[in-house]
Amino acid sequence: MTLCEIAIGSNLGNRAGHIRFAFRELNRLPRTKLLKRSQVRPSAPMGKHAGPEYLNAAGILQTTLSAIGLLVELKRLEALRGRIPNGHWRPRVLDLDILTFGKQRINKRILQVPHNSALSRTFVSHALADL
Ligand code: AMP
Repeated sequence: MTLCEIAIGSNLGNRAGHIRFAFRELNRLPRTKLLKRSQVRPSAPMGKHAGPEYLNAAGILQTTLSAIGLLVELKRLEALRGRIPNGHWRPRVLDLDILTFGKQRINKRILQVPHNSALSRTFVSHALADL
């Protein structure tokens, strides 16, 4: 059983609805429970394709999935909400990132954990401070 921190972001469409969907569906993932959820806060978009303002949040999951198994589930939830993979920094309906996965360090092309670039963002530290 592993405790992991997940970042949730949305800057397209019904942003608050997408975040609510994420919290609900994270708690419904196989072999997984959502233990804690942060408040939802706005943040300025980053990058040249950034688009509208984000809503961000974070949660703590308890899971017996592997890190890659969890990543596959997160990608499935993003796709369910209608996200089309369109590169970094683009507006997105729903973005789910694995910030930490227990004490594991993973450095694969498809998965880097801890997610240091996300962890260094102010909106992520604010959300994690709630947890
Ligand atoms: P993003 O644009 O933030 O959705 O990230 C795109 C890709 O980053 C995903 O398809 C993942 O394969 C990869 N990725 C690498 N590390 C992570 C992580 N810690 N959490 C989520 N996605 C990650």
